[in-house]
Amino acid sequence: MKKLIVATGNAGKMREVREIVADLPYEVLSMKEAGVGTDPTEDGKTFEENALIKARAVSDLLPEGSDAIVIADDSGLEVDYLDKAPGIYSARFMGHDTSYDIKNAAILEKLSGVPYEKRTARFVCAIAAVFPDGTERTTRGTMEGFIADKIAGCNGFGYDPIFWLDEYGCTSAELTEEQKNAISHRGKALRSMREYL
Ligand code: IMP
Repeated sequence: MKKLIVATGNAGKMREVREIVADLPYEVLSMKEAGVGTDPTEDGKTFEENALIKARAVSDLLPEGSDAIVIADDSGLEVDYLDKAPGIYSARFMGHDTSYDIKNAAILEKLSGVPYEKRTARFVCAIAAVFPDGTERTTRGTMEGFIADKIAGCNGFGYDPIFWLDEYGCTSAELTEEQKNAISHRGKALRSMREYL
């Protein structure tokens, strides 16, 4: 069976990829399971460029003649009122090691007093794939919402506790993993990538 290597060390992302490509004829492997490890500098200017940097870095480590496809993702939160910050810097915003309680409180503070209709935001995810013949593909998925006026919920991760979903009347940290995967930026980008696999 052909191998599909996912350039991530994140167990949650692995679970989501496995679920979405479950019916395709691939053996899905994490970097660790594939015996490759790399942590390239993500110095691209877009989500797509950064996802490609990660996928290429892993692809370059595969033995000559490998028939594995490598996929990688890059994602983040765009807040319209903040000119789409933190965007591609979402993980690094205020420092990699700063807790999300602090990062989320800082975003709420920056939007303090800003009316609801100006609090629009989205999660963006780009997925990149590098094929054995060197072909590269990228797809993008987004999840639209608003920056809430307070932190709520403890599911999910990162900025989920401040990401308000009007249609559910709660934050994305108050959805179950299943509910979120069904509408998430990552799920959408991954399902688009299925067409190329
Ligand atoms: P990546 O793992 O390099 O793509 O970093 C993405 C960063 O964007 C994460 O560390 C989070 O801060 C943020 N992010 C991306 N997707 C989500 C999400 O679904 N919920 C909450 N935060 C997210």
